[in-house]
Amino acid sequence: MSLSDFKTEDNIIEIGSEMHGLMRELYPICRSITGDGVRNTLNILKKEISLAVHEVASGTKVFDWTVPQEWNIKDAYVKNSRGEKIIDFTKSNLHVLNYSVPVNKRVSLEELKEHLFTLPQHPEWIPYRTSYYSKNWGFCLSHNEFQKLQPDTYEVCIESSLEDGHLTYGEYYIEGKNSDEVLISTHICHPSLCSDNLAGIVLATNLAKYLSSASLRYSYRFLFIPGTIGSITWLCLNEPKVSKIKHGLVVACIGDSGKFTYKKTRQQDAEIDNIAAHVLKDSGNDFEIIDFFPYGYDERQYCSPGFDLPVGCLMRTPHGEFPEYHTSADNLKFVTPENLAGSFLMYLAVLKRLENNKKYINQNPKCEPQLGKRGLYDKLGDQDSSKALQLAMLWVLNLSDDKHTLMDISDRAGLEFDLIKEAADALAEHELLKEI
Ligand SMILES: [Zn+2]
Repeated sequence: MSLSDFKTEDNIIEIGSEMHGLMRELYPICRSITGDGVRNTLNILKKEISLAVHEVASGTKVFDWTVPQEWNIKDAYVKNSRGEKIIDFTKSNLHVLNYSVPVNKRVSLEELKEHLFTLPQHPEWIPYRTSYYSKNWGFCLSHNEFQKLQPDTYEVCIESSLEDGHLTYGEYYIEGKNSDEVLISTHICHPSLCSDNLAGIVLATNLAKYLSSASLRYSYRFLFIPGTIGSITWLCLNEPKVSKIKHGLVVACIGDSGKFTYKKTRQQDAEIDNIAAHVLKDSGNDFEIIDFFPYGYDERQYCSPGFDLPVGCLMRTPHGEFPEYHTSADNLKFVTPENLAGSFLMYLAVLKRLENNKKYINQNPKCEPQLGKRGLYDKLGDQDSSKALQLAMLWVLNLSDDKHTLMDISDRAGLEFDLIKEAADALAEHELLKEI
């Protein structure tokens, strides 16, 4: 079955709720850039796709970086002098500054406040904060709870460990007809946060599941990696494979109900850039295309000048542009099954177009071939649809000269991609075109 044969429209509600179900299963896990949270996450994904799990030792040099020590956490809380837990990690893993070093001591309110993070502009939400590369400890809480704190002696306890271990990532490869690869990369390092980033994890997983049963032109490499250090590590350890990557997408911020946003590759005019722009335009919905900038997700590493890979980022509302971003409000209610299903369909549409955006050579380039004697003329009746197909065939024949893809032809002719593809399929069947 080719990717074009997939009919997702009928069971899209089911697909959306399955993705949301997987998200609910992953939600409680306290993930970080290393540690058992990532391992447990990948183990759950392994039930969906048979991904390979790789472990890279702490201290491994990866370009200008070093794989950090592994962080794990069992419990964390702050108790007042009456022994009441006023901040409790078991209620939300966002309460702990991610990568906090272990601590167990009594502190005054003043000292405690130096380690507390709140969001005064959204007083009911808990912010998400990290301290990966500088040793610190801290707690995050709602501003409302913060304002209730009275002078007291507080017991702070973070039962975490930061020691030599591994960085863990998942990889899933699907072999297509061609060894040229499409990279689909998503980060897996955020704790209980949905649009950024559980939505990306479940979307990439579902996409991998779908593609694995299709007959594909390209090979596909899915990476489930901790943000920044994960892509740096993968690129460093897999440098000889990198040149196989011909197209790529970073999956991030894909669960809210906002319009789609496509961030272009550093190259600006890669095939994936053109395809994403066309598919978004053809969707008939509002969308935005933004230029590459060296901030954001792992596209920063894939698009660093030493690699300059054609990897873009297809999002809904970008990071930092929705108030719920990196807060407890980016939760299971914020990301609905419908949003997930819509995002999945958009990714599928982009990949279908990529698979179908072939280039052909006209096998009869000196004057037009005689279509009638090949039975192709039968299709050229008086109906508008037949006339349109006739015109599409003439365009495809004329521009199949080694320089134009089907999408280029669709653009130049001002005809829909699907019609151009139908024309090319018919011509190729009669050996008037040869795929390059
Ligand atoms: Zn984030």
